[in-house]
Amino acid sequence: MQPGKILNVVLRSLFKKPVTSRYPAEKLDMGDKYRGKLKFYQELCIGCKLCMRDCPSNAITIKKIGEKQFSAELDLGKCIYCGQCVDTCPKKALEATNNVELAQLDYSKERVVL
Ligand code: SF4
Ligand code: SF4
Repeated sequence: MQPGKILNVVLRSLFKKPVTSRYPAEKLDMGDKYRGKLKFYQELCIGCKLCMRDCPSNAITIKKIGEKQFSAELDLGKCIYCGQCVDTCPKKALEATNNVELAQLDYSKERVVL
């Protein structure tokens, strides 16, 4: 490319908005359909554990914590955010959110109660 053309490109770029985003300085807009951290609706869960059975990476654990009451734990490091558990759940007790800020320095914090 000739120097004149290069200068032209440089000058045009100076006034264009960057294509890249300034994350984490600016919040990311992941859209509504992004599959991020799961949300668990405890009141809907019937403890069938179909989500556990279908999870390809053994990332979700359903535990009985009382009479007709269940908790859900997710291993953020194992989950591949495929959404299979959400599709499998017959009671719609799981939902994928667009929360993607899940990185941890401490591995012991990877396992979270949903
Ligand atoms: S599939 Fe749904 S209802 Fe069944 S244990 Fe999992 S979250 Fe609960
Ligand atoms: S999103 Fe996929 S990997 Fe994560 S818990 Fe659900 S089924 Fe397992």
